[in-house]
Amino acid sequence: MNAKAPITQDVLTIPRKLPEGPVNLVGMTRDAMRDALMVAGTPEKQAKMRVGQIWQWIYHWGVRDFADMTNLAKDYRAMLAEKFVVSLPEVVTRQVSDDGTRKYLVRIAGGHEVEVVYIPETDRGTLCISSQVGCTLTCSFCHTGTQKLVRNLTAGEIIGQVMLARDDLGEWPVPGARKDETRLLSNIVLMGMGEPLYNFENVRDAMKIAMDPHGIQLSRRRITLSTSGVVPEIARTAEEIGCQLAVSFHATTDEVRDKLVPINKRWPIADLLDALRTYPKVSNSERITFEYVMLDGVNDSDADARRLIKLIDGIPAKINLIPFNEWPGAPYKRSSNNRIRAFADIIYKAGYASPIRTPRGEDIMAACGQLKSATERARKSRAEIAAETGL
Ligand code: SAH
Ligand code: SF4
Repeated sequence: MNAKAPITQDVLTIPRKLPEGPVNLVGMTRDAMRDALMVAGTPEKQAKMRVGQIWQWIYHWGVRDFADMTNLAKDYRAMLAEKFVVSLPEVVTRQVSDDGTRKYLVRIAGGHEVEVVYIPETDRGTLCISSQVGCTLTCSFCHTGTQKLVRNLTAGEIIGQVMLARDDLGEWPVPGARKDETRLLSNIVLMGMGEPLYNFENVRDAMKIAMDPHGIQLSRRRITLSTSGVVPEIARTAEEIGCQLAVSFHATTDEVRDKLVPINKRWPIADLLDALRTYPKVSNSERITFEYVMLDGVNDSDADARRLIKLIDGIPAKINLIPFNEWPGAPYKRSSNNRIRAFADIIYKAGYASPIRTPRGEDIMAACGQLKSATERARKSRAEIAAETGL
């Protein structure tokens, strides 16, 4: 053996073989794509440039077929087609609400399903995406929380939701056409199924792809990640993603929050607020959104509103009041409109924006906390029947 053979750390981290079958390029970071292309035989010197070209085809132009990547040599395209695919989750159903909200039921590998919701507004359009199938947490007002975690989504499945929505909206640029500054899909919220901070790396990699200036190009100010309060991951979110942060606050005492958002038993309100205090500076974002679901007689009193103001003192904040969306068997009722308005008023007078979130897409069960209901319910009842009949 030649003792002088240079073995660098870099070489050791590159897998020597691609996995069996074509490998999906969607969801890879630039570095991962470079490694994969090199394993497939791309000379090291060319690899970075090839990544740049392929990246732009996939994420700027929305191209899926290697044959259409016309600035690559024909035999290189053939090699790509043999070893790789550009593949998205499959849209199983697409429902359009009376108010224009679109809900996609999307199937991912293993036959699992998640929901993705597109909410059009006059000056923007927001895509609400999922990060997990089900959720490990059990917030008592959330329908997703009644469903066990099945698995984390991959980065490809997360960014794939954005790409399939752009397909449906017909929003990939057309070569030569004038650039349209108003985007149909202008904002992303990680507020679908799952707790994004329990799937940190995949969420981060997917959002990096969404923000990449040579691709989908969404500003980090147009991406909002909502967490139930996974305190140890909040600083990392500021450093490694830098997007806007929303937090499912929902209560003003630990006693009530323990019941509504049980992760509070692990990281109580004081710890959460400490983490939130440093977020805007580290991420250089403007303010934190405090989400507050309005539950009749549970967390909606004037005293709650006043406590909330005291708690968030010193944190640049906006309070988003969410009228509770009911689901079959839910143990809560929505606060009355008068109560919600009175609560909003106290907060507003203390100097905070306190918008009341209008439920969107309720007729197709696309509103916050209603996701995955019908399909999962059908599946549950089958499981229950099987249990009863002993099959
Ligand atoms: N898991 C993350 C993000 C998904 S939920 C989180 O908890 O933050 C997005 C928002 O909808 C959260 O603030 C959540 O608390 C809220 N929500 C859940 N169920 C709801 C319901 N039935 N009615 C209204 N809002 C709900
Ligand atoms: Fe999970 Fe968020 Fe629902 Fe809580 S509110 S159960 S964290 S999806």
